Amino acid sequence: MIHKQFTSNIISWYYSNKRALPWRETTNPYFIWISEIILQQTRVSQGLPYYQKFVAAFPTVQDLANANEQDVLSVWQGLGYYSRARNMHKCAKVISAEFNNAFPESFEKLLKLPGIGPYTAAAISSLAFSNPTPVVDGNVYRVLARVFGIENNIADAKSFKLFFDLSAKLIDPKEPGTYNQGVMELGATVCSPQNPDCAYCPVEEVCFARTNKKQKELPVKIKKKRNTNRYFTYLVLKQNGKLAMIKREGKGIWEGMYEFYLIENEAQTEINEISSSVLSHLLEKGCVIEQEEQLPKHILSHQTLYSSFIKINLKTGNDWNKFLAENGLVLYSQMEIEALPKPVLITNYLNSVSKSINLQD
Ligand code: SF4
Repeated sequence: MIHKQFTSNIISWYYSNKRALPWRETTNPYFIWISEIILQQTRVSQGLPYYQKFVAAFPTVQDLANANEQDVLSVWQGLGYYSRARNMHKCAKVISAEFNNAFPESFEKLLKLPGIGPYTAAAISSLAFSNPTPVVDGNVYRVLARVFGIENNIADAKSFKLFFDLSAKLIDPKEPGTYNQGVMELGATVCSPQNPDCAYCPVEEVCFARTNKKQKELPVKIKKKRNTNRYFTYLVLKQNGKLAMIKREGKGIWEGMYEFYLIENEAQTEINEISSSVLSHLLEKGCVIEQEEQLPKHILSHQTLYSSFIKINLKTGNDWNKFLAENGLVLYSQMEIEALPKPVLITNYLNSVSKSINLQD
């Protein structure tokens, strides 16, 4: 009963409250796919003009497949993180050559395409083809944990199945895409992490957290103690030819060494799933991700490090001094960085990008 009420309230709320966006007015998988890729770590207001420019330049998947890479990258220019554009181009070529320009409909087949992860595959499958494939992202975890009083730790990879299975029961088979978008939109606009606006929530009557005043306790997110595999994402912040680094504090093998701003994840994490207030702040301020670089795994005596580096130019026009200082970061020139003590991992990265990172500009 609660399940039915939840689903129908979400759907009718979504119809009257959704933000009007062009990719929400279509079931064309090509347009939905473009919007999902553009919106990875990009705000809607920033991504919208790029979406419009992109679909105007390449109106079909075939047009994109036939385009040359330079043209694709020049339309993408300014949005940053160019591997997204390169992967889209690659993916369009596969769809053109192997699927006769028609997107595959199933989640499993979509997942095999270049640059498409579980979240994007579920979004395309449900929004474009009305398959009842649940989308589970941070918003969905939060809304469901609160409404159904789920106390499982969402940082534990095993919890994904529980939320996926519950979503599979809740999803409306007639309108799976609307349901998926509705839950995500509710999490993005009403059921926010810090101050959920329960008085305006369409499911407040059935919400466990609202009834029991447990909004602050749910969802439960407890990071596990370190295991032998560790997953690092470094933010490489660049300004006027200098890079921001931080001195590592505390006990440990890297004590006193210099590195970039570190986000440690529980598992290998797609860029759009990284949860970091620092990264969110940078994107809010209009900075764009310029490049993502993955290094081969780095084996230490007691742990294996999987690391990726996200390069971001600090947007001019903002005063970054306070932000850098608050996060323990200091800008260093290339010569200064060479003289700093650094973990081998950081040196490997700097060597691998020495040509492309261009500290002279
Ligand atoms: S009632 Fe409040 S806590 Fe519950 S889902 Fe709505 S906004 Fe979130």
